Amino acid sequence: MRLILPLFLIVILISCQEKAETKVVSLEEDVTFLASDSLQGRATGTQGERIAADYVAERFEAMGLQGKGEAGYFQDFVFKPSTNPHQEATFVEGASDSTQTGRNVIAYIDNQAAKTVIIGAHFDHLGMGGQGSLYRGEVPAIHNGADDNASGVAVMLQLAGRLKKLENAQSNFLFIGFSGEELGLLGSNYFAKNPTIDLQKVNLMINMDMVGRLNAENTLAVHGVGTSPGFKQLLFANNDQEFNIAEHESGIGPSDHTSFYLADVPVLHFFTGQHEDYHKPSDDSEKLNYEGMRKIENYIFNIVTDLDDDAKLAFRKTKNESEETPRFKVGLGVVPDYLFTGEGMRIDGISEDKPAQKAGLQKGDIVKKLGDQPITDMMSYMKALATYSEGDSTLVTIEREGASMEVEVQF
Ligand SMILES: [Zn+2]
Repeated sequence: MRLILPLFLIVILISCQEKAETKVVSLEEDVTFLASDSLQGRATGTQGERIAADYVAERFEAMGLQGKGEAGYFQDFVFKPSTNPHQEATFVEGASDSTQTGRNVIAYIDNQAAKTVIIGAHFDHLGMGGQGSLYRGEVPAIHNGADDNASGVAVMLQLAGRLKKLENAQSNFLFIGFSGEELGLLGSNYFAKNPTIDLQKVNLMINMDMVGRLNAENTLAVHGVGTSPGFKQLLFANNDQEFNIAEHESGIGPSDHTSFYLADVPVLHFFTGQHEDYHKPSDDSEKLNYEGMRKIENYIFNIVTDLDDDAKLAFRKTKNESEETPRFKVGLGVVPDYLFTGEGMRIDGISEDKPAQKAGLQKGDIVKKLGDQPITDMMSYMKALATYSEGDSTLVTIEREGASMEVEVQF
């Protein structure tokens, strides 16, 4: 008896030690670190960006993922920052006084499979503000970028840990923390042109950019749904989190999936929507919906594992939505709510001194008809609007708090 007890204790001690080594880091911990003031807003090419890159690389290493950059986990790219706010930064060969270096972080799970899934999220942000900032304060302030995009990086890291443990996987998994996104998709563009794996084998690319603000209606915007014929069904079949999904067909959008779509890879971009802290110093970690992020993590995990034993997805080009969009001579002066999934066009914001404001329209109103043209979605709204000219007036039918009303609008 006296011998058995110590043996038991030894076994317990050893198993405790093992647990400590594979310690699970939570979404909250990753976001809190990445969005802390000490990283100074993670602007591309700064010390804060490097600390963030090191952190992401260390997290990959601790989970046992292989480095798949050009130097271990890192892939550096040299660029010349733009001095013109209407122009994007450009890549250059070789560093000089006028150039800066950004750093992608790349890790791989090699399952010797014929196809590969890429899961990515950008970790750079706006630093102290400058170009792209919506902050109008006098004193420069740290833009912490908790939702944009510590949220996506944190979900990516959780998925990496879970997919590492997936048994008999029939896909390889590549994880990329992109830098340079805020300067014009620099990191993803560079990777797509200088891939460290065979892009021909890539089954799909999943991008998470701003997934930290899931709303009370559980609305999740998914872009790129048109880039493979099976995506609609895939999103529907795995929706056991009961998301209210706002689908967008186009593979082109203002985030890193665009770089892969342009290389003929099917893409899905997950996004929980704009908010008043967007691109401001107040985008902080305590404002995120971590439960919502866990739902999105589970959803993406289910999608990836569902696809795992299927044949490689077919790529499909989507209509360029800017070509498809009708030309307007007039506007209502409203910001449409892109997360709205009901019938009509819901107004998310009203511009000063424009027709909508003059007619008394309000945020939250749902436009149902312009004249006698029914409005079912954004496209029918834009098509209807394109039929009006300056000086025309028309009746607009709206729904406000459940009641239908008509107002006269003069363009
Ligand atoms: Zn951003």
